[in-house]
Amino acid sequence: MNPISNLINSSRKIVIKIGSNVLSDDNGAVNKTVLHNIVEQVNDLRNAGKQVIIVSSGAGICGVGAINKWSRRKDMNYKQALCAIGQVELMMAYKEYFADYDIHVGQILLTKEDLQDPHRALNIRNALFTLVDEGVVPVINENDSVSVDEIKIGDNDTLSAHVANLWNADVLIVLSDIDGVFDRDPKTTDNAKLIEEVTNIDSLLSQISIGETSSFGTGGIACKIEAARLVNNYGNSMILLNGKKQDIIRKGISGEMSGTVFFGGDL
Ligand code: GLU
Repeated sequence: MNPISNLINSSRKIVIKIGSNVLSDDNGAVNKTVLHNIVEQVNDLRNAGKQVIIVSSGAGICGVGAINKWSRRKDMNYKQALCAIGQVELMMAYKEYFADYDIHVGQILLTKEDLQDPHRALNIRNALFTLVDEGVVPVINENDSVSVDEIKIGDNDTLSAHVANLWNADVLIVLSDIDGVFDRDPKTTDNAKLIEEVTNIDSLLSQISIGETSSFGTGGIACKIEAARLVNNYGNSMILLNGKKQDIIRKGISGEMSGTVFFGGDL
């Protein structure tokens, strides 16, 4: 069996992070086909006896899609306003698609301070366990409308790694718009080679050259690698897959598509 199917098959608790670039189309609007397909695959995982938490970006792009203005505003209050509007749109889409499978979703919005404060972190953990034990799929995002720079986590790769550790997830699956980690930036280089297995992050970093952050999302490949480090330090693994590709989790399990696995702990 390939490492991705091995990991997913042997995991019971799975956090799936979905990036803004996965959820948006070329015009920056929400790609509902992609979102629907991911929901279908989450349903498959649950039918296979697994528990799933989603960490979803996309409040900003959904806000632009809903209100059709302010996309170029850089002022913090407008960005916060867009996320306040878009978070509702985003959750409506999740609610609608999960309802096809009679699954409820629960929204949790977090800031860095929530995760740093042990009392709040414990409460979040309890809420997550309760939701999941009761069959609900929690959908988590940063609380962008209150997260000014000082209290911001800033990117959902890091947020998803913290959530995975807080909930003791067996694996974190990060869905991005790239196939995995390459030795060079595949967007600017032709012969970039996919690195399928990572066991040591420092030696990985000494071997690769990292390109620029993509247009819609906050986190570039460096953020994903550091998220993997956080999860690996906790003894768990992370899988980076291209969430724009249809049925990517199913095909990762069947071995038809690859990505990068960052191994943590004993295998
Ligand atoms: N929380 C932001 C949003 O929902 C995205 C952060 C990220 O892309 O990492 O728009």
